[in-house]
Amino acid sequence: MAQLHFLMIPLMSQSHIIPLTDFAKSLARRGALVSIVTTPLNAKRYNPTLDSSLRIQLIPLHFPCREAGLPNGCENLDALDSLDLARQFFHACRLLKAPLHDLIRHLHPAPSCIISTSAISWTQDLADSFRIPRYVFETVSCFTLHCSKKISQLLDSVASDSELFPVPQIPHTVEFSRNQLPRIPTKDSDSFIDPEPAPPRGTLVNTFQELEPWYLQASREERGSVWSVGPVSLSNREASELFSRGNEASIDEHYCLTWLDSMERNSVVYACFGSLCALSIEQIIEIGLGLEESGSPFIWIIRKQETNSGQVEEWLAAEGFEERVRGRGLVVRGWAPQVMILSHPSVGGFLTHCGWNSTLEGVAAGVPMITWPMFAEQFYNEKMVVDVLGIGVRVGVESCADKQGLMRRDRVRSSVGKLMGEREMREKAEALARAATDAFEDGGSSFLNVTLFIQDVVRANAEMAVYEMRE
Ligand code: UDP
Repeated sequence: MAQLHFLMIPLMSQSHIIPLTDFAKSLARRGALVSIVTTPLNAKRYNPTLDSSLRIQLIPLHFPCREAGLPNGCENLDALDSLDLARQFFHACRLLKAPLHDLIRHLHPAPSCIISTSAISWTQDLADSFRIPRYVFETVSCFTLHCSKKISQLLDSVASDSELFPVPQIPHTVEFSRNQLPRIPTKDSDSFIDPEPAPPRGTLVNTFQELEPWYLQASREERGSVWSVGPVSLSNREASELFSRGNEASIDEHYCLTWLDSMERNSVVYACFGSLCALSIEQIIEIGLGLEESGSPFIWIIRKQETNSGQVEEWLAAEGFEERVRGRGLVVRGWAPQVMILSHPSVGGFLTHCGWNSTLEGVAAGVPMITWPMFAEQFYNEKMVVDVLGIGVRVGVESCADKQGLMRRDRVRSSVGKLMGEREMREKAEALARAATDAFEDGGSSFLNVTLFIQDVVRANAEMAVYEMRE
């Protein structure tokens, strides 16, 4: 078989590009060539995280912002001022199909397969026209894949949006209300994500066998080939990879590490709400005061988009907030080196919006969590952390962000107090982190699944060759 060449096509969003770039490292370490389709601005962000000894290339394609009605520079979901522009964003992604077709035609060596993340199902047409297999890289857990399917079958029988109902036929007691589910597009409503035209050849999931064995098995029964290959964040070994993963960090590496080194083991709360959440100024204030009142040391990340209006800076300055918490509270405006921070021994709690990447990074680092889901499948991740794994406490939100009221500072304070005093959860979280490392290391379950996946790609290409010879 000729040189294996994996062509990766992620949705242009941090929660897709970051884990796919991590997974590219696993493949490249096995000697494969990996090409990742990206855009000029995204390429600038991701280039520094690539290890030059690995054969991973970023291929930037012009991103048609203007053609799709997006402001210039909106090449990543996290660059949108508001998620109201998501429809235009997905349209821009769809416009990449023709240039991608051209690109694949000239790519050398020819790609052995396409790996795309979910939400860009049109990549199946590309795979079909080049007669190469397509695999989906899922950016959610098997728990979410399975439970969301079960829930979709019973939703019509639920009387109201706030009524709690159990997920049927699973081995854990997990309850949802409709208010906690991602908006389900109806026939007439505006789904901007196209349905899958045909099932992919196989599914890769950023999870690991030991974390959710029952749900992994259930996903296999539903989908056929499913390989758990995570936690992919563990593919970052060097400090430089950890530090600029996904973006240049908005804090000096040395300062951040010295600050963390000066704190006691397991004492620091790390508060970060991912790459997309847009919190109101009122909510940001309550979080800050809640963290302050908790008495725990903390690192608090405020997204750049949230500081743009100047209101956050005004409040921080008027309050003298940073002066008051000096020595025990660190405010980062912009992008945090999240995996580096989480893996520092001083960090003992993670206040998270429960994006799947963040959740799994918390698991891989052995850090128990305070869960504050906002939208998309984040409530599934909260339930997995709290009800299935037993490694987190809820801050106490009942519904998705558009229906969430203001979360008061006392809830932030009390949930931090509750989590930081917990011993059993910490022990469970640490045991899961050891299992995650074992799964990812040579000979572990995720390592073996990468081998099985590569073998499947080889087999699929051989089958295609035989088919073509017969034709
Ligand atoms: N992230 C980071 N620094 C930040 C914010 C986010 O490194 O300041 C990373 C985080 O480690 C994760 C990804 O961005 O890998 C966010 O993905 P997730 O699925 O958690 O949430 P989303 O951003 O999609 O809401």
